Amino acid sequence: MDISYILNELGEEREGYFNAVSPPIIQTSNFTFKTVDDFRVGLGNEFDALLYSRGHNPTLNILRKKLAALDGAEDALVFSSGIAAITVPILSLLKQGDHIISVENPYSWTVKLFNDFLTKFGIATTFVDGTKVENFENAIRPNTKLIYLESPNTFSYDLQDFNAIAALAKPRGIITMTDNSYCTPLYQQPIALGIDLVAQSATKYIGGHSDVVAGVVTGSRELIEKIFNNEFMNTGATLSPHSAWLLIRGLRTLPLRLQRSFETTKQVIAWLKQQPQVDKVLWPFDADFKQAELAHQQMNGCGGMFSFTLKDSSLKKIESFCNGLKHILMAVSWGGHESLIIPSIAGIAKADYDEQNFRHQLIRVYIGLEDADYIIKDLEKSFK
Ligand SMILES: *Cc1c(COP(=O)(O)O)cnc(C)c1O
Repeated sequence: MDISYILNELGEEREGYFNAVSPPIIQTSNFTFKTVDDFRVGLGNEFDALLYSRGHNPTLNILRKKLAALDGAEDALVFSSGIAAITVPILSLLKQGDHIISVENPYSWTVKLFNDFLTKFGIATTFVDGTKVENFENAIRPNTKLIYLESPNTFSYDLQDFNAIAALAKPRGIITMTDNSYCTPLYQQPIALGIDLVAQSATKYIGGHSDVVAGVVTGSRELIEKIFNNEFMNTGATLSPHSAWLLIRGLRTLPLRLQRSFETTKQVIAWLKQQPQVDKVLWPFDADFKQAELAHQQMNGCGGMFSFTLKDSSLKKIESFCNGLKHILMAVSWGGHESLIIPSIAGIAKADYDEQNFRHQLIRVYIGLEDADYIIKDLEKSFK
């Protein structure tokens, strides 16, 4: 399907709402039925009905259609956060005694889900270095039900080979799921590479303006219906119609914003690599990146987020560099209009900082929609 069609038309039935170009926010909790017969059908199969907005809502349904089509998936569910779009499907697919293989170092709350939450229900997780396919194969147990991926992750940008991992999982009946927040469906299509479920934090690039928290998961209708009927309805982690409307609006400009962030990132990285203060830069499309070949195979563009290290990685140096920035803001999240920075050290107690630990040294930068010069000048001033 044409991306322009998906973003501008798909799911929008304008004759139903005065031919308005922008869809209405259907701010209702419930929907009426004319007859008991109709009511019975709705109650009997909420997945195919408009009954109550904890389930489906017309504004959310427009968004679901667009997000499913972008991923090349049969269906989608949207959630009140990205982590709900990860947690709820996993709760739905697994039961006590099941085993998960996860790539190491996924998003921080995904790690907590595996280590602190699922363990309460007797579900164990093995973390593997995902840069080698055989690590997944070696970790498979008879009770392995899920292989969880995040390619690339958003700190060291390690990739996993979707095709090869899907080929391992499929014949064994293991479900594969990936977090695709970094690339979005515009730059990476995991379903076409054999992955079953694709989650995204829609808070990031899909929303794109740092004003909404949301998530999405896409996959086969069968899997999505199963997730909906059980854990989605029970956790009640649905999105509000207003937030769904903000995401539809975000989608209109997604290709432009991604392209801008990608292009500016190239310029900023080219400049950074010439600076004497900079040691390493990690970004999947950088020629020196250790998995650059796989990145170019699997991704048709790259997110505008990268990490780098300073030659002098003392706590004091990193802190004074970050504190000196005026326009690149220090904050969590990414994917919005504004450039952001997070030094690893912000998440580490001062006493625990290990100057020799590469992960401790990392400084993560997200490039927003500002001019490249504006961002580079800010970095330059702070280096001085
Ligand atoms: C932010 C983020 C999440 C979690 O999404 P929320 O919308 O904050 O719940 C998951 N994965 C990645 C890669 C993220 O950056």
